[in-house]
Amino acid sequence: VLPPKGKPKWLRVKLPTGKKYTQLRGLVDKYDLNTICTSGSCPNMGECWGEGTATFMILGNICTRSCGFCGVKTGRPETVDWAEPEKVARSIKIMNIKHAVLTSVDRDDLKDMGSIIWAETVKAVRRMNPDTTMETLIPDFQGISTHLDRILKVAPEVISHNMETVKRLTREVRIQAKYERSLEVLDYLKKNGANRTKSGIMLGLGEEENEVITTMEDLRKVDVDVITIGQYLQPSKKHLPVKQFILPEQFKKYEEIGLEMGFRHVESGALVRSSYKAHKHIH
Ligand code: SF4
Ligand code: SF4
Repeated sequence: VLPPKGKPKWLRVKLPTGKKYTQLRGLVDKYDLNTICTSGSCPNMGECWGEGTATFMILGNICTRSCGFCGVKTGRPETVDWAEPEKVARSIKIMNIKHAVLTSVDRDDLKDMGSIIWAETVKAVRRMNPDTTMETLIPDFQGISTHLDRILKVAPEVISHNMETVKRLTREVRIQAKYERSLEVLDYLKKNGANRTKSGIMLGLGEEENEVITTMEDLRKVDVDVITIGQYLQPSKKHLPVKQFILPEQFKKYEEIGLEMGFRHVESGALVRSSYKAHKHIH
């Protein structure tokens, strides 16, 4: 156990570089494009953008939920922008993105919980960028099948929904969500035709090794194909504190355990974010 004071050296990252990165950065600034990569100052930008992957957030920047780990603002969300699907599709075209990860805030305020915009966005991206593959990192839609069916119908290459943490810490980490419900969502998606399902957890919130392994087993029980495991970092002083920095060897151990359990892909490492190396997860 390392005391959470100062970042260990494996969490320090170099500033992103590379021709493709510089070029994309220019376009994002010029056209004021909204990617999670830039708004969250993700450490993997050099690598992801170099491979033609980026993450886009839809349905606004204000969330109806208030998870203890998340840097997104909570409050009354903006009204729905019906032009958003086209805008996202255009951004993907301008940036020449080969694999797009789409995600959204939770819109518990809307009758359709945002699922219509979700489906329209996938369709618009495909219309304008027929060769771009997609991962939809969706909220739980409160487990309501009508909303989940809209996503299944437009058939993104990967559908992901993050558990974020182990069962015991779920209440503390994402208060409005439920561990079992998230598993049911992943189960429903797979049983109803999802090509690939994927989930992610963050470590360093006080979980024990056996709890991490149980979560991985629970995900395998509902036939999830891909798991991402990364280090939690506190977005601000108001957010949950980092209880522990997980050692690189420990991440490696989870990777080996995960592959043994039968996941197709396991991304496990301190800097792993749920969309890290996402382009590999379609296969
Ligand atoms: Fe963007 Fe995700 Fe890659 Fe970070 S890990 S740069 S958010 S695609
Ligand atoms: Fe953040 Fe998602 Fe939780 Fe909203 S539901 S606060 S966007 S993690």
